[in-house]
Amino acid sequence: MSMKPQGRPTAPIGTDPVKNGPTHTGNKALQIEEKLIFEIGDFRGTGVDFAQAKGLPPRLGGLARKDEIGLPGLSEPQAMRHYVRLSQKNYAIDMGPFPLGSCTMKHNPRLNEKMARLPGFADIHPLQPVSTVQGALELIDMLALWLKELTGMPAVAMSPKAGAHGELCGMMAIKAALVARGEADTRRRVLAPESSHGTNPATAAQCGFTVDDIPADKTGRVDIKAFKAMLGPDVAAIMVTNPNTGGLFERDIRQMADLVHEAGGYFYCDGANLNAIMGKVKPGDLGIDAMHINLHKTFSTPHGGGGPGAGPTVLSEALAAYAPVPYVVAKGKEFELVEKRSQGAETSFGRMTAFHGQMGMFVRALSFMMSHGIDGLKQAAEDAVLNANYVLTRLKAEMSPAFPGFCMHEALFDDAFLKDSGVETIDFAKAMIDEGYHPMTMYFPLIVHGAMLIEPTESESKEELDQFCDALLALAREAKTGKTDKFKAAPVFAPRRRLDETAAARKPVLRWVSPAQ
Ligand SMILES: *Cc1c(COP(=O)(O)O)cnc(C)c1O
Repeated sequence: MSMKPQGRPTAPIGTDPVKNGPTHTGNKALQIEEKLIFEIGDFRGTGVDFAQAKGLPPRLGGLARKDEIGLPGLSEPQAMRHYVRLSQKNYAIDMGPFPLGSCTMKHNPRLNEKMARLPGFADIHPLQPVSTVQGALELIDMLALWLKELTGMPAVAMSPKAGAHGELCGMMAIKAALVARGEADTRRRVLAPESSHGTNPATAAQCGFTVDDIPADKTGRVDIKAFKAMLGPDVAAIMVTNPNTGGLFERDIRQMADLVHEAGGYFYCDGANLNAIMGKVKPGDLGIDAMHINLHKTFSTPHGGGGPGAGPTVLSEALAAYAPVPYVVAKGKEFELVEKRSQGAETSFGRMTAFHGQMGMFVRALSFMMSHGIDGLKQAAEDAVLNANYVLTRLKAEMSPAFPGFCMHEALFDDAFLKDSGVETIDFAKAMIDEGYHPMTMYFPLIVHGAMLIEPTESESKEELDQFCDALLALAREAKTGKTDKFKAAPVFAPRRRLDETAAARKPVLRWVSPAQ
């Protein structure tokens, strides 16, 4: 087996000082340059191949590959180093605060990880006979019970695999209910606040509805007068987040629920912000008909970069009969899976996933809930709101809150404090990277100019929050002195400078082409 030298620099050492920067290798101490796996791999270092033994027929029965397979070949140490180096270029919740508003990036207790790795949960297969996975089904049933209890809702669909997928589940249940009422052709409009998360209108459109924006009032909440005027016999549903994406509680939520019900429509609530209200407010008491719960936000789970997630969706009496299969039912001490309409699920709108949902997330979420207890979950919500208000109050000294008063679990700022400084929201966020912080959510919600949405969550300590606030206050003071160069150049200490995000979105390069081609 031949072994190549490990850790090759981007350019031959010392030959290109401009490209390599201040060091011969292009590396900066622990910050090691890393090429694509396709660029470092070849087959010389991979595996062991014995010569064909004399006198024996070929082992592959004439099926030997004729061309190169085209995958990178790496030795085990090369593969380890490649992925460890890449992982070190990433910011992570285990490195520092991850203040992305709306995303609820909180500490993931290691207990949850330990539970999720128990072989009885981790090593089972969804096609095993039901009699051999009774414990897993019991866990799903128990988690469903906690979710129904916490939300005050009678039913929950466990299979959706993300928040957006849960929205699809809720809207498909609403559509099925409209079909059953014979109103699917007349009720085609969905109303959503203009501050809503992009997935809300996208989901409604996916289900064939048209979407109209409900304007916000001066306090950042739904303009109830405008909302009333928009209701009519063509409205299928409203989609509202509470607390909303400005981190504010929609005080008129009961009235909105009553109004939409009087108009014959349904109330979809985006439950991604449950972190602020769990144990305090039962969404069932607010008159909602369907709401997804992001287990990967509210109840922890390492998420980001597109996965993994779980979006169980609670349903009201009016929608419960349309819930998707499969679902778990307890029959005495046994648990059964309802997989087909013929098993008593005649009105189910169908199936959304191949199997039963995200088992690993279920285990983590239940572990989070049981280790907190109902009082602990309530305190987590209170601490999340307290932390956000602490950040809001400290940062107010130099930054400009988007709305007056207290917030819920997120502190929202606009870019008024940067006015005439030449520094924009994006520059400010990039400067945070150099200070060692992941930026907050930028330019969302859209109703706030140059928005900066900060969600500290309950898992940050006061010391951690003080350091974070000190860094942001110092940056804000610096920005106001007009030192734009530093901000426009940031980040300078990250592995890469600013990327052309427009080109990346419009012309994504998703395929590596060998220079030899
Ligand atoms: C995160 C989020 C969603 C979507 O959830 P995913 O799990 O990312 O699909 C929807 N609405 C709001 C308000 C969110 O914060």
